Amino acid sequence: MKHCNISIFVTHVGCPHLCAFCNQRTITGSSDIPHAEDVKRICSQALEQLNEAFDSEIAFFGGSFTAVPRDYMLELLEAANSFVGSGMFRGIRISTRPDYIDAEVLEILKRYNVTSIELGAQSLCDEVLEANERGHSAQDVAYASDLIKNYGFELGLQMMVGLYKSNPERELETLEKMISLKPKTVRIYPVVVLEGTKLAELYRKGEYRLMPFDSVIDLCAKMVIRFKNADIDVIKLGLHSSELVEKNIVAGYYHPALSEIVYSRIFLDCISGYAVSNGTDKLDIAVNRRDVSIVTGQKKSNILALAQKGIKCEITQDDSLDRSKIRINGEIIDVFKITGDPGL
Ligand code: SF4
Repeated sequence: MKHCNISIFVTHVGCPHLCAFCNQRTITGSSDIPHAEDVKRICSQALEQLNEAFDSEIAFFGGSFTAVPRDYMLELLEAANSFVGSGMFRGIRISTRPDYIDAEVLEILKRYNVTSIELGAQSLCDEVLEANERGHSAQDVAYASDLIKNYGFELGLQMMVGLYKSNPERELETLEKMISLKPKTVRIYPVVVLEGTKLAELYRKGEYRLMPFDSVIDLCAKMVIRFKNADIDVIKLGLHSSELVEKNIVAGYYHPALSEIVYSRIFLDCISGYAVSNGTDKLDIAVNRRDVSIVTGQKKSNILALAQKGIKCEITQDDSLDRSKIRINGEIIDVFKITGDPGL
């Protein structure tokens, strides 16, 4: 069954914070705030187009849904909830800040058929949260996560990689703490420094130095592996590409194919690990047709990296292989299988 969410962006409205990295209008591409009639129009149009069997939810993203004025939140929920039910949408998803979750707000969300709550955690290291002016602690994320799960909602966590005052050790600390909170899903966003933010100022003054792009790709690859092995779905990797974001980038880890680059690194690590542990430099590799370009890497980067280590590869397609599997010299390997410490 097809799954596709209908996203409605509730921009910066009502957010009492200004995090160091945030320029909500640039990310969502809109400074207009949606009202009940907009929600109804978007949902009606979507229902007309989704005429086959589907499994869809209405998703309120951007901003901090539970931090907006209460009347406005109820207006949006009321409008969306009239489209939830048989033959319509399965439920409603929202994203918000951890410090705007409590029992009272969860009771309201339950009444309106909200099924999933994503928390913008960003980091679970207090020094990083403070330096980026998030206005909440790692403990707030843990408390809100437990409450959300206890109320029976699906929990999602969002993290940013490479924030001001972060480093690989702090990223790994966040990774392990996130796993311990047992979310159903995570979104990983390597930092993009946008015009008009505090991070842009710090970057220009030389106070905020970014980790090298390659280290962040490595970190993300390790994170994906750890999350997958903990049965946590990585549902997004990197900001979606948009002209507006591209026009406002000052620095950071933006790439329209960032996710593919990370998955490509996972395959590369798996292949070179196999070559080293089996003491061989000639590899016959087979993968599902849809993974061939990922295994090869952008501009054949993986093939070139392996060649530099003296490893020659022949890559063929085999659609009987699952997308997470690779066959090397006749042996089928799960590329996400952790064989050791995921340290850097
Ligand atoms: S809480 Fe969210 S919307 Fe508000 S400033 Fe921070 S990132 Fe932006």
